[in-house]
Amino acid sequence: MGLIGVTFSPQHRPVVAMSNQYDVIVAGAGVIGASVAYHLSAKGMKVAVVDAVGPAAAASGAADGAVSVCSKRPGPMTRLGLESLRYCHGLAQESGPLSGIFAKRPSYYFSTSPQEDQALDDVSHRLADLGDQVTVLADRQGLSPMPGIGPIVHRVLEISGEGHMLGYAAVNAFLRARPLDTFWPCKVLEVGATGNSVLAHTDQGDLEAPYMVLATGGGAKSLIPALPITPRSGQLIVTERDRLPVPLAGELMAGAYLLNKNKRQATLPNPPIVIAPLASGQLLVGSTRENDGDPSRTDFKTVQRLLTHAANCYPALTHLRIIRVFAGVRAAVDDGIPIVGPLDKAPRVIVATGFEGDGICLCPLVGREIAAMIAGQAVSEDLQSLSPNRFREGRMAS
Ligand SMILES: Cc1cc2nc3c(=O)[nH]c(=O)nc-3n(C[C@H](O)[C@H](O)[C@H](O)COP(=O)(O)OP(=O)(O)OC[C@H]3O[C@@H](n4cnc5c(N)ncnc54)[C@H](O)[C@@H]3O)c2cc1C
Repeated sequence: MGLIGVTFSPQHRPVVAMSNQYDVIVAGAGVIGASVAYHLSAKGMKVAVVDAVGPAAAASGAADGAVSVCSKRPGPMTRLGLESLRYCHGLAQESGPLSGIFAKRPSYYFSTSPQEDQALDDVSHRLADLGDQVTVLADRQGLSPMPGIGPIVHRVLEISGEGHMLGYAAVNAFLRARPLDTFWPCKVLEVGATGNSVLAHTDQGDLEAPYMVLATGGGAKSLIPALPITPRSGQLIVTERDRLPVPLAGELMAGAYLLNKNKRQATLPNPPIVIAPLASGQLLVGSTRENDGDPSRTDFKTVQRLLTHAANCYPALTHLRIIRVFAGVRAAVDDGIPIVGPLDKAPRVIVATGFEGDGICLCPLVGREIAAMIAGQAVSEDLQSLSPNRFREGRMAS
């Protein structure tokens, strides 16, 4: 048995509980795997979902949930983000899987420096070309441009059309919405492919199906070491319930967050803070990008820096107690673009990883498109730019 592209021995040991015939095995029950499984099942396919730990065990369970188009890089990522947002609105209709999970609400991008002003200008110009799904509602400038905002903020761009969805809630919603067979803990150790089937060697036995989707987030690296993904953690802080007279109606996002994501700028004028009101009434404050992958490590220096700036921008925070501090780990790709598509040498293995800070926003669309891909239907042209084959001549060997 070996890595992808190497044929398995036919005498594999089937996972006892999984003796059913499946059309597709989905490895990974984060937002991507859960959405893929939902969409495959909605097309009538029999799907097994396996996860090494359980649903939302990694990035999807330790993240903010901004469904934000403004923070996508110009080009295919913005177009995919916009299409995913549009589709998300549909899935959130009554009786849709994301009903009560995705909340449409305004986003407030703010500036405390000239560089951040420039980032807000860029977003404003880009939105003008994107139709009327996401639009600038107001561009408030001057002293205290919005109630509750601190004096260091001199501009707030209010955007309508975006929204919020917590990763773990989306995972549970997708998994519950369809009759899926789910297995955890069940860790995929190796994957191999023959002409018309894929074989997965797991710590619970072996699995075989015509197709496999590898939605294992950062865990994809141990299965396909040539994938250029690296862990990038982020610190998050949760407060008690906001008891303020004028609660935040949507997410507050620093211009530095846009510089960090849109332009991949590493040196920032200020911490890239976001302050998100949660349905529970609590506030979630995030988030940094550290080049390490230890979710058990709380980086107090970074947390202190985040909170200091967050409190300067939104002084109401100083009246709230912090009840939780934790880190999440994103799977980041060297070129900043997720990896989605069949492997060149094993086309029945579809990889969907490397979503870094965009997986919650993109999961509805990616799930729909991968299901279409497996069903032999047409998929969005923009998905081509996410193909793993872009590394063919470079670092990715398999
Ligand atoms: C601090 C932070 C803030 C974020 N904020 C946002 C945001 O505002 N908006 C947004 O869109 N995105 C955000 N993200 C990014 C988003 O959380 C991720 O892009 C998304 O959750 C990735 O989902 P996934 O399903 O690809 O991977 P994961 O959620 O990491 O899931 C992978 C799953 O695969 C399983 N697995 C791994 N290896 C194996 C194996 N060998 N066998 C079986 N199972 C395996 C794991 O147990 C895990 O459950 C944020 C992330 C972080 C960390």
